[in-house]
Formats: sequence, structure tokens, C-alpha cells
Amino acid sequence: MDIWSSIVSYIEPKVDKNTLKLLKGIKETKLSDNKFQIYAPDIVYKDWLESKFLKVIQKVAKNLTGKDLAVEVISQEEVDLRNEKSQIEKELPQDKLIRNINLNPKYTFSNLIIGNCNKIAYKAAIAVAENPGRIYNPLFIYGGVGLGKTHILHATAHYMLSKNPRANIIYTTADAFMSELIAYMQKGSILDFRRRYKNIDLLLIDDVQFLVGKERTQVEFYYIFNALHLIGKQVILSSDTPPSKLKGIQERLLSRFSSGLIVEVKPPDIDTKLSIIRKKATEMKMNLPHDVMLFIAKTVNTNIRELEGSLMKIKAYSEIMDRQITLEMTREVLKDIVEVKEIESLSIEKIQKEVANYFGVNINEILSSARKKKVVMARQIAMYLSRYLTDKSLNEISKAFKKKDHTTVINAIEKVESQMKKDRKFKLTVEFLRDKLLTL
Ligand code: ADP
Ligand code: MG
Repeated sequence: MDIWSSIVSYIEPKVDKNTLKLLKGIKETKLSDNKFQIYAPDIVYKDWLESKFLKVIQKVAKNLTGKDLAVEVISQEEVDLRNEKSQIEKELPQDKLIRNINLNPKYTFSNLIIGNCNKIAYKAAIAVAENPGRIYNPLFIYGGVGLGKTHILHATAHYMLSKNPRANIIYTTADAFMSELIAYMQKGSILDFRRRYKNIDLLLIDDVQFLVGKERTQVEFYYIFNALHLIGKQVILSSDTPPSKLKGIQERLLSRFSSGLIVEVKPPDIDTKLSIIRKKATEMKMNLPHDVMLFIAKTVNTNIRELEGSLMKIKAYSEIMDRQITLEMTREVLKDIVEVKEIESLSIEKIQKEVANYFGVNINEILSSARKKKVVMARQIAMYLSRYLTDKSLNEISKAFKKKDHTTVINAIEKVESQMKKDRKFKLTVEFLRDKLLTL
């Protein structure tokens, strides 16, 4: 018989039925070396127990153990308070904004490059963080791997915390959610699991596609989702496919997923990719020539994580070999991880043809030395693009343009570069042609 039951049976003959019932209501006690702790459901109970029975409890406990135990009655409120305090103490040295949710400090909105590919998701996330539970609930963000979904989820949490540092937020992946659920189920404390998700202001669940086929987890998730949704708490979900394509998820859960706003993050276009490369390169203190940036933007297809990986590889290589980063080196470094073929197939002839077409001039005019304004412009731009989009040498380019030496090509490149700085419309034209050629 445990010590509390012994105490109760000792007291039993001296008290009435109701008192006995109350005493039997104690579910948890803890005996340590010199302490006997009794957990009371609330502060009123604690007062009652202490005032009426503390002495007798002390006496019986001493008889039973032969030790002078300190008896302590602790109410649930005190337990909560202690937990909170130890939580706060644990957190003190850390960034107070990050608290106990695992947010990557780098995944913020200020580190997110916005393009047409992710603008809607970005705006929706901001709106939700500013009005949690009130507009798009849930917000469902889907898109391919490495396109920034996790980044947006973390950024939303950071942003909400910056507005309200006391906001109660949980970020987890569907996978981690499931492991956690299983752990709680094994301990037989599913209610504790649910309690964990009670009263949170923002629940972020990443990669819900992992719920496919996980029936039990779906049931639990449905329960938690509804409990939060009902009291107007915000839920944000991410997935690699839209809800309609999530086969193996219960219909009722899918209809919940679709009941708010569904937004897609698309693969970045070439300009967004270039901005991302530029930003990452600056962060990584890398000096990347423009042609290298273009090359990376073009060859590393859509995945932004791969893009980062490529930059790191180039940086490491240039540091180890103690060499400047050049297009040639980049090609060499990336040849194992990306298909370099595409850009190699872009020939000077193709560039000449495309540019001539755009300006409505004849390709022979471009190859001649005609001085007509439109022809000169087309010729110069074609030379410039040949320099940047192919890895042909200046000599090869001048030959391809039927020039005797490469001074004409150098002049053309300089002319185009300075014109692009001065003339916005001209710059847009060149960029348009560049992108067009890159996506051929
Ligand atoms: P997903 O969750 O969609 O697979 P992540 O959020 O993990 O993608 O993004 C992969 C990497 O790319 C991360 O390091 C992230 O910071 C970066 N990233 C993705 N999109 C952008 C963006 N628009 N601007 C800057 N970095 C980005
Ligand atoms: Mg992710």
C-alpha cells in the first residue's frame, strides 16, 4: 500500500464520508529523501487539507517511514507557476523572441525575396499574422520542394511574435506531430497531448502531405484543428500539393484544409532567381560576376535550396583553390549537380537570329558593317549577349560577327553596358532579350 493510502486509512475512522471522499480524491503524491509532496487540485483544497490534516499527515508519515519528513501540499496553480518559471529561466539566455518553438532565425520576411512566384503567399501570410484567426483560416500554402514554404511559415511566426511577443505559437511538421502523438499515446496521456495544442494563437503545420495514409494521426489532427478553429485561432498549413491532390487524407480533413485560403508558391522566374542569388551571394560575402549569376540562375532549375547549395559549393571551391570565381570555374564546379547542357546549346547564331528578329532587321545586316541606327543597336546587343550568355572568347565572337579583331566587340559591350545604366527602356529591352534566350 502506498503512503497516501496508508495515511487515508489511518484517518478514515475519524472523519465523515464526504471528507473521506475528498481525501481519496488526491491522485498524486511524491516521496523523496526528506520530503513528502501532495498534489492538490486547487488552492482551496490545499488550504483545507493543510488546515485540517497537516499535523496528522506528518505524524503518520513519520511512523510509516521512520523519518522526519517535510510535508508539502502543492496546488495545481503552483505547479503551473513553477513550470512557467523554470521555462522562463531556461529561455533567458536565448533570444526571447524565439522562445521554445524551433524557428530558424534566418527565415524572416526581410530575408525573403518576393517575386511573382510567391507574392500572393507572402501577402496572405502577412495578413494572417496581422489578423490571426480572422480572415483566412486556415491558410494553406502549397508548392514544390525548396520553394520557400518553410521559410514563409517561420517568417509568419517571427512576424507575429514581433507584433505580440506573448503570442502562443507552435510550429511543427506533420511528421514531428505524428511522432509526438505516438510518444504521448505510448505514455497513455493523449489528453496531455491535446492540452499542448489548446489555446495556442497560431498553429503552423509544415508538410501536411506526410499525413497521407496516417489514419490515427489524421483523427487527432482533425480534433485539434477543430478545437482551435472553433475559438478563432489561426492555423497555417503547408504541403507539396494542393488539397485536391492529397490522396489518402480523410475527406472531412481535406474539406477543412480547403475552407480558408489556398495559395501556391511557384518556381521563381529568372529575375527572382537572380535577386535571390545576388542576395545570398552578398550574405555569403561572395563576389559573383554577372555572367556567373546568370549561369547559375539558368542552370539550377527551380529549387532555391539547390541554388544555395550551388553557391556554397562554388564558394568552397574558390576558397580551397584560391581562385577568383569565373564562369569557367562555375561550370566546372556545377557540372555534377546540374545539367549544363542547356546553356551550352545556346549558340551565337541563335542569339543573332533572335535579336535580328526582335529588331526586325536582317541577319546579314547584323553581320555587315551597315551603320543604320537600328542595325547598329541590334548588332551591339547581340555581341553583348553573346559575351554574357555563351562562354565563347572575344576572338570567337568577333569571328562569328565577321569582324577582323575583337576591339569592335569590346566597344559594343561597353556601349551596351553604359547605355543600360542611363536608359531604362533600353535596359528592359536587353533584359527581355536575355530572358527570352535563356528560356529558349
Ligand atoms: P520548402 O519548405 O518549400 O521546401 P524552404 O523554405 O526550406 O523550402 O526553402 C529552401 C531554402 O531556400 C531555404 O534556405 C530558404 O531560406 C531559401 N528560400 C526559398 N525561397 C526564398 C526566397 N524567396 N528568398 C530567399 N530565400 C529563399
Ligand atoms: Mg519545407
